[in-house]
Amino acid sequence: MLSKGKTAKGTAIKRIEMRRCAACRQVRHKSELLRFVKTDAGVSIDEPKKIFGRGVYVCKSSECAELLKKRRSLDKIFKLKIPGELYDKVKETVLM
Ligand SMILES: [Zn+2]
Repeated sequence: MLSKGKTAKGTAIKRIEMRRCAACRQVRHKSELLRFVKTDAGVSIDEPKKIFGRGVYVCKSSECAELLKKRRSLDKIFKLKIPGELYDKVKETVLM
């Protein structure tokens, strides 16, 4: 978990971490997005955002989770057959 305490002055990375949502195409801050990453085991949700690899971002909203599932966007982006359970897991995750 990320601490909500103060960040040390001067040590924060200045680069703004903005990413585009793969579903609605809106650009948002990384903290508002869910990250997916492709690993040897397949595509998974990278909740701690610590797995190395090609990341894809989606808003933490049920609309975007729904859109993602409907379009099977992750299949296209990762050029892989993504199991339906992953899309369902996205919906569960954003609703938490
Ligand atoms: Zn979105």
